[in-house]
Amino acid sequence: MQQAGYDDIREGVRALCAHYDGAYWRKVDEARGFPEAFVHALTEAGWLSAMIPAEYGGSGLGLSEASVILEEINRCGGNSGTVHGQMYNLFTLVRNGSAAQKDYYLPRLASGELRLQSMGVTEPTTGTDTTRIKTTAVRRGDRYVINGQKVWISRVQHSDLMILLARTTPLVEVVKKTEGMSIFLVDLREAIGHGMEVRPIANMVNHETNELFFDNLELPADSLIGEEGKGFRYILDGLNAERTLIAAECIGDGRWFIEKATGYARERQVFGRPIGQNQGVQFPIAEAHIEVEAADLMRWRACGEYDGGQPAGASANMAKYLAAKASWEAANVCLQTHGGFGFACEYDVERKFRETRLYQVAPISTNLILSYVAEHLLGLPRSF
Ligand SMILES: Cc1cc2nc3c(=O)[nH]c(=O)nc-3n(C[C@H](O)[C@H](O)[C@H](O)COP(=O)(O)OP(=O)(O)OC[C@H]3O[C@@H](n4cnc5c(N)ncnc54)[C@H](O)[C@@H]3O)c2cc1C
Repeated sequence: MQQAGYDDIREGVRALCAHYDGAYWRKVDEARGFPEAFVHALTEAGWLSAMIPAEYGGSGLGLSEASVILEEINRCGGNSGTVHGQMYNLFTLVRNGSAAQKDYYLPRLASGELRLQSMGVTEPTTGTDTTRIKTTAVRRGDRYVINGQKVWISRVQHSDLMILLARTTPLVEVVKKTEGMSIFLVDLREAIGHGMEVRPIANMVNHETNELFFDNLELPADSLIGEEGKGFRYILDGLNAERTLIAAECIGDGRWFIEKATGYARERQVFGRPIGQNQGVQFPIAEAHIEVEAADLMRWRACGEYDGGQPAGASANMAKYLAAKASWEAANVCLQTHGGFGFACEYDVERKFRETRLYQVAPISTNLILSYVAEHLLGLPRSF
């Protein structure tokens, strides 16, 4: 089952993904490389700029359509984590950028000349406690000077632009801790080597992610997106888009795992019959299927609210929670169904198993969603 009305997008993305099969992704994963050919093809076909308004050269589509694009990449066995940054960053730029920023950047992003794949929020000493970030942006004349450090910032080596969150007013001087932060559009081509250093982090998934060091990086004052001091609000809006997109990616993963498990359970003969004839094998797959389909309903609620301009925080968080949990359960079931072969790289199960595990931690950990629901939806006392 899937939401009707997006067949053209699904078919288009699937047709493209058919050229980038399991062997392609396995090779990229083994080499710890970047799927440049895939990203190039996706850009050329216009999928990465689909949500840019038509007047700037895009297709003017919404979060619902963006979510289908990413879902299908994962549903086909690919890794949408290599490209999803541009999708949610575009929502931040389109919704909050100035006319001049949109006039300059959006046509270049639409044509594929530029990529906006990175967003720098997380810091090593503050983690999830975002309002305590220590990276500062100080206005000096027509520049902002950036100092500080970020960690786990993805796709920086394969992006031209990055949205950066920094403190413009010290925490002690603001009434509310969510105030006094601002977001900037950083031109990575100018910044790297001129006040910004990038150190890659080797990690469990083939996910290009980095530590960033800022030492008096100078940004033109017009790099500021929106109003100074309101950056946390803009980032939160972008994070709701990100969480909904990640939910859709997890739905895609979940469906891939279930199809893979079902196919193997039908074919694999042990004790003279298909393993899928045993209820002990069938039931966990059926259960995982139910969980994925249920999570998909919340994903569509989040998409509808976001595209309709309504507050989407609650649904986006719950969709991400449910979908990440469902895809991880589906991954476990798929690996178990494959027995020893689940561990063999050539089946792609172990790769996808690693890839989908990430989403219970990033972009927001499961505990933090639970605390959001407890506090904001159920009115329980704040725990931190
Ligand atoms: C591969 C990868 C790519 C990433 N890409 C990006 C990126 O592009 N940009 C970016 O800005 N960030 C990125 N991140 C960072 C990611 O968003 C964070 O890792 C995530 O939000 C968790 O933050 P943390 O690692 O600092 O964990 P911490 O905040 O240190 O938390 C550690 C653990 O403690 C738990 N915990 C903490 N506080 C509480 C509490 N009060 N109650 C209950 N439990 C709690 C958390 O749930 C978590 O399980 C990426 C991370 C990874 C691993």
